Amino acid sequence: KPVCLIILGMAGAGKTSFSRRLATKIVDGSRPYLVNLDPACREVPFPANIDIRDTVNYKEVMKQYGLGPNGGIVTALNLFSTKFGQVVELIEKAGQKHKYCVIDTPGQIEVFTWSASGTIVTETLAASCPTVVVYVMDTVRSVSPVTFMSNMLYACSILYKTRLPFIVVMNKIDVVDNAYAVEWMRDFESFQDALDADGDGEGGTSYAGNLSRSMALALDEFYRDLKCCGVSAHTGQGLDEFITLVDEAALEYERDYKADWLKMR
Ligand code: GDP
Ligand code: MG
Repeated sequence: KPVCLIILGMAGAGKTSFSRRLATKIVDGSRPYLVNLDPACREVPFPANIDIRDTVNYKEVMKQYGLGPNGGIVTALNLFSTKFGQVVELIEKAGQKHKYCVIDTPGQIEVFTWSASGTIVTETLAASCPTVVVYVMDTVRSVSPVTFMSNMLYACSILYKTRLPFIVVMNKIDVVDNAYAVEWMRDFESFQDALDADGDGEGGTSYAGNLSRSMALALDEFYRDLKCCGVSAHTGQGLDEFITLVDEAALEYERDYKADWLKMR
């Protein structure tokens, strides 16, 4: 069975670009098996083996049910999730040829993480294949300490909701090096200093700034064992380190998660 990577992250973080980059990565002689779960994307920039758009027409769903774009995406995903058992069978079979399976999700993260269908997809997958959550974040935008904290809180909430091995991918390091973020996670005081220096921004002594200060202490535990790496979906930088983390996370799945997930089946 392939190791399944569920690619999550805020809209614009680079989920699709990163999936595309992974699509070209050959590990032990195989490319990843590719799944697109975003019903609303115009073009899928990688050769998807399974594409939600072949099964549900998101525009038709909007028309038929009188929905706006978000409702359309949620409903399309709901319709697709009823068939996800079959999809998992295909993914399992693909394991004969592919070491990894990359699953790109809709642009709007909440559509996947806080919907019944996202939960069904995640749980069906994790009950049959080693599954890892890959949280892509935008390193360029997260230089604002309050934005960084929002991203980490989101990551943290997904970790606790899915209870699966988890990797934070700091994307776009071709523009901004992610060293600052690693430093903030490693050293609580450096994050406090960044908040202090952000007096004109959202940090400083504002409500959000003070909340971020308290949260940073609370997240210390979350950061401690967190797997994270800097990558660039554009240049391919950091990909080897990412694969190393994936292999560790897959072992973690076998060791710490598998028994729980098998019980659910
Ligand atoms: P998604 O909504 O998470 O799927 O994000 P996309 O993959 O569509 O990317 C959003 C934007 O970020 C696009 O304009 C991409 O070109 C850009 N982008 C994605 N990855 C990178 C990267 O590694 N470096 C740079 N400089 N831009 C990136
Ligand atoms: Mg996308």
